[in-house]
This record gives sequence, structure tokens and C-alpha cells, in this order.
Amino acid sequence: MESIKIIHRQTNHLYLRLCADGSIRITAPTGLSHSCIMDFLKKHQAWIQKRRKMLPPLPTYSYKDGEKHLFLGRSYELYIKFSTKNSYEIKDSAIILYVKDDTVNKEILFTAAMKNELNIILNTLLHKWCPIMKVTPSSISVKTMKTRWGSCTYQTKRLHFSLDLISKPMPYIELVVVHELTHLMEPSHNRHFHKLMSHYLPEYRKLQRDLQRLPKEFR
Ligand SMILES: [Zn+2]
Repeated sequence: MESIKIIHRQTNHLYLRLCADGSIRITAPTGLSHSCIMDFLKKHQAWIQKRRKMLPPLPTYSYKDGEKHLFLGRSYELYIKFSTKNSYEIKDSAIILYVKDDTVNKEILFTAAMKNELNIILNTLLHKWCPIMKVTPSSISVKTMKTRWGSCTYQTKRLHFSLDLISKPMPYIELVVVHELTHLMEPSHNRHFHKLMSHYLPEYRKLQRDLQRLPKEFR
């Protein structure tokens, strides 16, 4: 199924964006009908198809020995070893999955390992940034996200982070953490938000731009 996200905004124009994962983002004027937006989408189908073909192919993994995976922006080789219990270890440039037997679902084990690693990093970054920014989230969670790197529920102060961040170099994870923490002070992407961001991370615009171009591991 096609992933389309429609954002209504105080604007006079319709904007169409094709994201790195092939999903579509449309920014539309507040109040514009759904059928108008769908007509607009239909008109641009040829352009979307053409652009989709230019996107790098989705990685598919078999979770076999020697397979390469992105971890913190670097390529790691995966190894499967038998052990008394299911676990994992990351050392040098290798991610080792320990499995009890061959029936273990390696994709689930690998995903859980990456989720655990990201949680550790997020907690370290929150430990650093919460006192600086004088904000504290009520909880954090990691999940696969199609079009976003993170989200913040302003009312409940809950933060969510995309699992794919674990494939990115540390400065980009830090960018997303600071971005979501800033939302605890300012829910919208207005002038105040950008002022706060440039105060805490002066290079945030460049990081934001570069993050969109990096290859994805989890979608
Ligand atoms: Zn935001």
C-alpha cells in the first residue's frame, strides 16, 4: 500500500515530496478537500513513478554470516553463532547473534538487539541534554517509523524515536534527540523552535539536510 502523509498548513500552495523510503508527503492549504488533493496526486503520478525508480533499492536481508549492516554509520558484518541462550554482542566491526538453534528468527533477534542499542544511546544523550535544556520527557520509546525520525506528544511529554536512527552516525541521533526535546518547549516548527534549535545545536540545519540523504536500514 502506498504511504501518503497529508499535512494541512496555512499556505496557498500544494507541495508534493517523495521521501527516501518511497512514501509521499503532501502539504496542503488548510481546508482543501481530500478529492482536490487526490486529483493533484493523480496529475503527478508519472513524476512520482519516475522519481521512485531513481531511489536506491530497499535493502533486503537474509541474516547470514558475513552480511553487511549499517550500525552508527559504519558497515558491520553479521555473524551467527550457537549458544545456550539467544543474545548478541557487538565488537570491532562485527555484530554477533547468539542463537540457541537454527529455528530462531534472526530478524527479530537482530531488530531487538538494535532497539536495545538505540535505547542505551538515547538514554545517554537524554542524560546529557535534559539538564542543559531543562526539560524531561515522561517516557521514550523506539519503533519503526516510515517518514519520521522522531515524534513528541507535547501534552503527555512522550517521545518516540525511529529504530532506523541506530544505522546513523551519532551526531544525527543527537540532532533528533535535541529536536524532540525542543518540542517539549515548543510544539510547532515556528521561529521560536528554530531559535531554540540553533541555540542548542548551531549546525542543526546542515545535519537535518544530510540526514535525509543517508541510506536507511529499517523502514
Ligand atoms: Zn519536529
